[in-house]
Amino acid sequence: MSDCIFCKIINKEIPANIVYEDELIIAFDDIAPQAKVHTLIVPKEHIPNNLYLEGRHKPLIGHLILKANEIAKIKGIAETGFRLIVNTGKDSGQEVPHIHWHLLGGEPLGRLICK
Ligand code: AMP
Repeated sequence: MSDCIFCKIINKEIPANIVYEDELIIAFDDIAPQAKVHTLIVPKEHIPNNLYLEGRHKPLIGHLILKANEIAKIKGIAETGFRLIVNTGKDSGQEVPHIHWHLLGGEPLGRLICK
């Protein structure tokens, strides 16, 4: 989508600190981190939020969740633990309408809920 900020990062039209990338997903550090490690894991396909996932996305989501472990290792938080969060819609406070997983860690997260 031409006006989607995450599509612009995927298309390298705007910069980001890219941590991992393959044919299906990209991971980059959040511009306003809410923990010592705060990385976003984003499918390259423009899917607005969790409600738009279809059966055909099952391989993509499985891939992303498994890669989240790898990305956690890259960020050095696999051993200490991490949280994965997907905000969906208005009450969640979702700001960017391109589905993404927040990967948070690097310190005790307590009740931090990524909003
Ligand atoms: P959400 O509120 O779940 O939609 O999360 C959107 C996240 O995207 C927020 O944590 C923002 O800080 C982050 N964000 C917005 N623009 C950028 C950007 N250009 N680069 C990296 N992260 C961004």
